[in-house]
This record gives sequence, structure tokens and C-alpha cells, in this order.
Amino acid sequence: MDLYTQLGLRPMINAAGTYTVLGGSRMPVEVLEAMNAAAGSFASIPEFQRRVHQRLAELTHNEAAFVVTGCAAGLYLSAATAAVQRLGLRPSELTPSRMAEAEVVVFRSHRNPYDWAVRQLGARLVEVGYPNEIQPVTESDFRAVFTDRTTAVLYTVSGWTAPGALPLRDVRRITLEYGVPLLVDAAAQLPPVENLWRFTREEGADAVIFSGGKDLRGPQASGLIVGRQGFVDLLAEVAFPAYGIGRMLKVGREEMAGLLSAVERYVSLDHAARKQWCEEQVELARRGLASLPGVTVERSYPNEAGQPLPRALVRWMGRPEMAKRVQEKLLAGDPTIAAHIDEKDGLFLNPMTLEEGEMSLIVDRVKAILADLAVDARRS
Ligand SMILES: *Cc1c(COP(=O)(O)O)cnc(C)c1O
Repeated sequence: MDLYTQLGLRPMINAAGTYTVLGGSRMPVEVLEAMNAAAGSFASIPEFQRRVHQRLAELTHNEAAFVVTGCAAGLYLSAATAAVQRLGLRPSELTPSRMAEAEVVVFRSHRNPYDWAVRQLGARLVEVGYPNEIQPVTESDFRAVFTDRTTAVLYTVSGWTAPGALPLRDVRRITLEYGVPLLVDAAAQLPPVENLWRFTREEGADAVIFSGGKDLRGPQASGLIVGRQGFVDLLAEVAFPAYGIGRMLKVGREEMAGLLSAVERYVSLDHAARKQWCEEQVELARRGLASLPGVTVERSYPNEAGQPLPRALVRWMGRPEMAKRVQEKLLAGDPTIAAHIDEKDGLFLNPMTLEEGEMSLIVDRVKAILADLAVDARRS
């Protein structure tokens, strides 16, 4: 019997996406094998790190790379590194009282629960602008928040940030003038695969942080930092295995091996074929559900994280409350099916975390749920 079933959980089909609370993603066999191989014997961790990081830098066309325990940990360690650099501290001086001097600039429109990683460090977030487009941030607004205590600018790239921030390129031009490191949270900005090098090489970021356990399909507890050599060298003094604030964010050799294998796979993946497969799943949902009375199915693109992959959007004409009812029934079934809804829009079926055959199963379940609801409606 399957592990989760043994523990009393229902099997799950994930049509929501690469969400950590659902397990993020599935590790391909080669990633599991790499972790297994690493787990079976010893290695000098600093030496293993150097080799893995060098290889990751080559694979992602970056000056340098570093494996951390997740994007959130990467944000924390990058912000700490930036403080070390800007305040002229030694890594051992990253104490709460010294960190209270640090100011990290963020666009208010980018605020999100992951910026806890920077607040946790003790740095103060200095917000600029509004979380809408009524009065977008100008360059002079942005310059006005810099002080001699500004240690970093944190820029979040996602489909769900609000409008109103300056473009990344303009931010870069200004952070260069002030000599302030630019950190980019790009946790879920894969695909496209080119983002592994675009934010650093084209947009000039000092450090860009990705989740290892989202579309990369590496270990859940892994994250990838890519960036400038000098910045990443300094980060290596702050991060595990050094004692200090990085020590609690221990990275296992299994995670390092797994993430390396995942990135190797990802850069040589046939992304066009994968996208085509996702299109076919959306089409499957459309063919299966669009002929039902009152139901429409559209291709929604890009997805909520801004990734260039399609989702099926199922709507009930004049009955927007149906999306939530169907979502709840999908979740209550066995296997449990996770899917997201949008209050206005309807039910999203996201193929990116599905495997062959799962979309047909979902379509059948939605049909059965709708048939049941119709019977209930006739009875009452
Ligand atoms: C998922 C996500 C994170 C957190 O990533 P972990 O690897 O789970 O730590 C941070 N920022 C953004 C924008 C995310 O989407």
C-alpha cells in the first residue's frame, strides 16, 4: 500500500500547480537516484558544494550558483549577504542589533508573505509606492527611499504581484548608481528555462532565487541561487556549513545532488513538447466538459504565477457559485482532487503537475459531480 494511504490520507491528484502545501512537485526517477547515490556514502561537504555549485553555474550560464534549502531560505541568506557587504560586517557580526540598521527596499506592490524571510533577519523593509496603478512609482520616488543604511533592493517577479513597480532594468540602473545589491525573488519563474540566466545576465541582478521543488522538480527542501561571483562568494561565507545564521539552514548532500540532477534534466528538457502536452490536457478538459449545459471551458494563459503554460478555465454561465461547490466536492472525493478557483472566474484545471490519464479522471469526476448536483436540484 502507498505510504500516504497507510497513514490514512487519500491519494491526491494535483490540478492546482506547484504549491508547497500540496507537495510542490514530483521528483523524477533520475533526481531520486541522485539523492540515493549521495546518501549512500560520505564526502567533504565544502568540496562537494564547490563542485556542485560550479556545475550549476555552468548549466545555468551564470557566474556562480549556490544550493539552499528553499527560495525563502535563499531570500534570507541573500539579504544577510547584502547586509554584510553594505554595512562592512563580518558574517559573525550578523546579530539582531546590527541587522536593525539594515534597510531593504521593496515595492509595496510586491509585498507578500515570503518577505518574512527578510523581516526575520531583523532588517527593516522600506516600502515604496502603492499596490496599484493609480500613481505608479517614478524613478525619483524610488531614489528618495535610498539612505546609507540601504543594504539591498528585493524585487519579486510573479504573476500575482500588483502593478505599479518600476521595470527591473530601471531598478538595476539605479541600484548600480547607489552600489546596492539587487535581489530577485523568481521562485516560480520557471518555465521558461531561459529565466535561469535572464535575470542575471540581461537584467543584471546580483542574486536570483528559485525554488528547487517547483517546476524544477528537485527536492522540496531545496532552492537555487544564481548570481554574481563576488556576491555568491560572500554568501558562501554566510551560508551552511559556516557557523552563524546560515547554520540552521543546513543543506543535505542529498538535496545538493538532487537539485543538480533536476537542473541537468531541466536544461535539456524538451520544453516545447511539454507545453504541447499541457495544451492537449487543456483541450481534453474542453472536449469533456464544454458540451455540458451552462458550462464553458476556455484556455487561460499564462497561469497565475505568470508561467507560459495554459490552464483550463471552467465556468458556469450566470452561476459563479458553482466553481466553489465543484471545487469542494473534488477535494472531498477519493482520490482527493486539488484545483484552484477564482471568485469571479471559475474553476482552473492546471495541467502542469498532472500525469498522463489524470485529466480524464478529473473530467469524469466533474461530470459525476454535476450530475449529482442536478439530481439534488430536481429533488428539492
Ligand atoms: C514559492 C515561492 C517562494 C517560496 O519558495 P520555497 O522554495 O518554498 O521557499 C518565495 N517566493 C515566491 C514568489 C514564491 O512563489
